[in-house]
Amino acid sequence: MMQFDHLTLGQRVLFGSGRSAANLAAEVTRLGASHVMVIASEFERPMAKTATAQISPVLWWDEVVMHVPVEVADRAREAAAENNVDLVVCVGGGSTTGLAKAIALTSGIPVIAVPTTYAGSEATNVWGLTEDRTKTTGVDDKVLPVTVIYDAEFTRTLPVQLSVSSGLNALAHCVDSLWAPKADPINQALALESARALATGLAGVVANPNDMVAREQTLYGAYLAAASFASAGSGLHHKICHVLGGTFNLPHAQTHATVLPYVLAFNAPGVPEVASRLATSLGRPVPDGQDAAEAVVEALNALRVTLDAPTALVDYGFSASDIPEATQRVMKVVPASNPVPATEEDITALLTAALQGTTPAPSVPSLL
Ligand code: NAD
Repeated sequence: MMQFDHLTLGQRVLFGSGRSAANLAAEVTRLGASHVMVIASEFERPMAKTATAQISPVLWWDEVVMHVPVEVADRAREAAAENNVDLVVCVGGGSTTGLAKAIALTSGIPVIAVPTTYAGSEATNVWGLTEDRTKTTGVDDKVLPVTVIYDAEFTRTLPVQLSVSSGLNALAHCVDSLWAPKADPINQALALESARALATGLAGVVANPNDMVAREQTLYGAYLAAASFASAGSGLHHKICHVLGGTFNLPHAQTHATVLPYVLAFNAPGVPEVASRLATSLGRPVPDGQDAAEAVVEALNALRVTLDAPTALVDYGFSASDIPEATQRVMKVVPASNPVPATEEDITALLTAALQGTTPAPSVPSLL
């Protein structure tokens, strides 16, 4: 029997390459906003200028820091209040979107997001702030952008390596959604279509970074992944990466890209049916007689080779001496519903493998 409770978040999504300026102007008019604050880092400013070509912002803000330190959020909130801002437009990656969300969290000012990476924050009602080496996240509908404007032209400048890490960060959203606490058939359907789009899109971007069809597929997949993640909640993968980012300040996208196959290898034996569907979405249906967990891990490993994906946390500043503290912190937040119960030894082994870049493989066969 099928039984589930599903919540779909309400948000407009306007997708069109080269259409960001027209789409943004129409949305500003529709919302009746007169005091627009634009958030974009210095590097993202040219894209923001393009997106805002048909509106007249009252405030430009370029202090953007990954994982949104509280003091940065407070400065931006004060500036928004001083300028009577009634709409925040963020043009940039997940860090830029994160700052806009921090403003919305305390002020209720609506946000329009124009994403330029595949991070997916724009489609979630999750906010994150960092203070004293600890990243706090929460869920609040106030931070969900009212509108997302996708323009794949902005992703053209994303270097291939960053496209791969960011796209695998998106893949982590959809894969983790498959077993997250609120996983259901609807968010699983979004996640599996997302995995298909991301796998084909990213392979296309690596083959030709100017392939706009591949860029659009990847951006579309990134949205679906975030929508499935927003609905299903944080699974084991996000709990681990949240600790690695917040406590050890590891780079977000690369950390997700590196850790994902180890969490898949750990969890896939507990969800063989979903593992089999994911393998198909990744373009490698499980051959007759092969274990589904083994097959899906092989499928992801093969994709990672095609993409020349990041492989070891040691390359991003994590070290063996960090593992005990990381394990302790992860153990406090492992979801009770994780399909495979995780012990301290399991998390230590997973982090050790991710640190060194050992080839990911399931440790136990599927529980068929
Ligand atoms: P980022 O926003 O820090 O961007 C990474 C780098 O890419 C920056 O230097 C940025 O200037 C540059 N960049 C952005 N767009 C570019 C483009 N089109 N071309 C070239 N360079 C470009 O990194 P990110 O991975 O996009 O986002 C990470 C942050 O987002 C983290 O803080 C993470 O916690 C947060 N996040 C939140 C959620 C959520 O649901 N709340 C989801 C995903 C990510």
